Amino acid sequence: MLKCVEIVAVTSDYLDGQLRFSDGLSVRTHLAICRNCRRFVRQMRLTLRVLQQMPEPEIHDLEAVASQLAEAAKKPS
Ligand SMILES: [Zn+2]
Repeated sequence: MLKCVEIVAVTSDYLDGQLRFSDGLSVRTHLAICRNCRRFVRQMRLTLRVLQQMPEPEIHDLEAVASQLAEAAKKPS
């Protein structure tokens, strides 16, 4: 039987369908008896769905944001 901490560790692989069949079965068995992990997995699934719907950030945008933050940090508030 998996422990809760082990469920947390494999949740993203589980939701991606990356687990071996037997591992997925172990996760489902745990979820059947553990309400906390059921809630965690449901939350994780929602989070992944939201992340997948977000557009990929452009690298140069990230750099622009980073330099703006660096500039803002230099200025006295
Ligand atoms: Zn659990």
